Amino acid sequence: MCSSFVSYVVHQARRLPQTAHLRVRSHDLIGVARWDTPFVEGIIEAQKDNCRGNLMSRSKLGLPKHASNTTSFDRLSALLTVTVLMVAASPLSAQDAPSWQWPEAQWREAVDRVRAGDRLLPPEWPGGARVAVALSFDMDAETLLLRNSNTSPSRLSVGQYGPRAGVPRIVDLLERYDIPSTFFIPAVSAQIYADETRAVAAAGHEIGIHGWIHEHTSLLGRDDERMLMQRSLDAIEELSGRRPVGIRTGSWEYSHNTAELIAEQGLLYDSSLMADDVPYELVANGRPTGVVELPVEWILDDYPYFGMNRAADIRPYTPPSDVFEIWQREFDMAYAEGGLFLLTMHPQIIGHRSRISMLEELIQYMRTRPGVWFATHEDVARWAKEHGRD
Ligand SMILES: [Zn+2]
Repeated sequence: MCSSFVSYVVHQARRLPQTAHLRVRSHDLIGVARWDTPFVEGIIEAQKDNCRGNLMSRSKLGLPKHASNTTSFDRLSALLTVTVLMVAASPLSAQDAPSWQWPEAQWREAVDRVRAGDRLLPPEWPGGARVAVALSFDMDAETLLLRNSNTSPSRLSVGQYGPRAGVPRIVDLLERYDIPSTFFIPAVSAQIYADETRAVAAAGHEIGIHGWIHEHTSLLGRDDERMLMQRSLDAIEELSGRRPVGIRTGSWEYSHNTAELIAEQGLLYDSSLMADDVPYELVANGRPTGVVELPVEWILDDYPYFGMNRAADIRPYTPPSDVFEIWQREFDMAYAEGGLFLLTMHPQIIGHRSRISMLEELIQYMRTRPGVWFATHEDVARWAKEHGRD
């Protein structure tokens, strides 16, 4: 990752005029940099995250703590000196050639690394239900900041809101409607909020793993990723009393090894990918893994509608009534087709008053329909695996 990222940086930098106004493309630095984060800021953060052991702090580079929007040539030169050194230490691979030069084998290998296999859509859900509804809550808490070494108390407080104010509301709501759900909890969050984690488990909800500290999975080496997966399973098992059977990767990121490692750990399911609306079997490097994928979607996530990043001027506030309409339409179609309706929510987002009341209205709406099966991700995955090929 380090070499391919740095080569991208060098590739871009070579094409730029000396005083270019640089921007980072979000998908290259997902979660590391923000949409309008200056180039320098982005590469420094990436170096910190990606290249452990090769940390280059801002001060070492002679860069200001907060780089201005316009990157000067001096700063760029310093940056390139570092990146060139790093590239020299990590030779470029064939992968770094422009994609239009890739031979067929290369683009086929890229798409075949992780693929959606057989659909696992049962003819009906338990009790003859038409649709399965799987509600999930990702209790990220402070780890969204901590993973990037951000220790700002004011920003961390936004994370604390989730377990402190949001989770009790969510657990209460689910109890009133007798609905089981799944919480995905990073191991560090679970340890900070041990009592809350135990309370979630005691209330009958499933807990799946969600990384160690919500790390960027796509940047991990195979051994590190395996070790963090195992540590996460151990930590959640110790707190909840039950070994998790499912995973949702932090920010839904995958490395080239993730699918194989999930199968290696013997997990029943993953819920991080988006190749369908209904469960399917994960295929890794052409081989069916036996792992059930319960697909997610940004449309079915609370973050894009309500999330806010003050520093990046991302303020996409959406009226809860609009989100209700979108999710209602998604549910209606899943009901009509006989499928799966899976929501990804976050206690620090959906737990606010104006939003939890919208979720309650949606639950009430779904309750008006006959044949709706509310279930944990584990129960959906088990049924899909057992009956999905009937
Ligand atoms: Zn998360």
